[in-house]
Amino acid sequence: MSQDQQLGRVAVITGASSGIGAATARSLHAAGYRVALLARRTDRIMALANELGDGAIAISADVTDRDALLEAADRVKQEFGGADVLVNNAGVMLLGPFSSEQRDDYRKMIEVNLLGAITATEVFLDQIKDGGGDLINISSVAGRVSGPGVGVYSASKFAVNGWSESLRRELLPDVRVTLIEPGVVATELPTHITHEATRQGVQQAYDAAEVTAEDVAEIVTFTLQRPRHLVINEILLRPAGQEL
Ligand code: NDP
Repeated sequence: MSQDQQLGRVAVITGASSGIGAATARSLHAAGYRVALLARRTDRIMALANELGDGAIAISADVTDRDALLEAADRVKQEFGGADVLVNNAGVMLLGPFSSEQRDDYRKMIEVNLLGAITATEVFLDQIKDGGGDLINISSVAGRVSGPGVGVYSASKFAVNGWSESLRRELLPDVRVTLIEPGVVATELPTHITHEATRQGVQQAYDAAEVTAEDVAEIVTFTLQRPRHLVINEILLRPAGQEL
């Protein structure tokens, strides 16, 4: 898709206040998209919306709060006429040894990384279906392989992968579903780890990270620019009579 064709396409990005989400908002806006920035830290998304200027709005929303997402969807409809793209990016990575002491972290990761993405998708689905939209789910390499101390984070991302694969097949041709699985990306993600020793160790790995949020954002923007005929191929290759 050329830049001209993208002009006016509307992308909703969850977790747009930092890291990959903020970089994706900048990248898509630079490519001609109008962007709706969702996150809880209102000051950050407002500053980013001001920086981007025309075609960027900040909407304070916690992805675990369905009412807030419904209000966000209403605002996107009113201000931009609806969303063409939803980027499910909001996430937390609260690593640490498996223990009852970390139980609040487990609930939070499932509620934000998995249920947050599912809820944002069902809330925005009618908008992105209308006119041929895109759903981008930011998973992780931890959605394919796991290791000690990563269990529930991995579980949340493995679940995102399974759910995305089902949606990818179910929503064709109205919505193209893409899963992005980055490895270690230099962002503030590890700073929220509550288990002190784990945070220090993980932070060291993140301090040495070579992939930037901008690198991942570039992939998201590139992906959205790919022609949709690959989707059509998949439909043609379905066995006769198989609708889903
Ligand atoms: P950041 O911590 O910089 O960004 C996380 C974003 O999620 C923030 O904008 C935060 O906004 C938002 N968020 C967290 N909880 C909620 C919530 N309840 N409701 C709404 N927004 C929320 O980290 P990254 O940019 O690295 O992470 C983005 C995504 O990329 C995550 O899904 C992460 O799992 C994934 N990822 C990251 C990798 C990495 O190495 N960095 C590797 C692979 C995947 P706020 O706090 O303002 O609400």
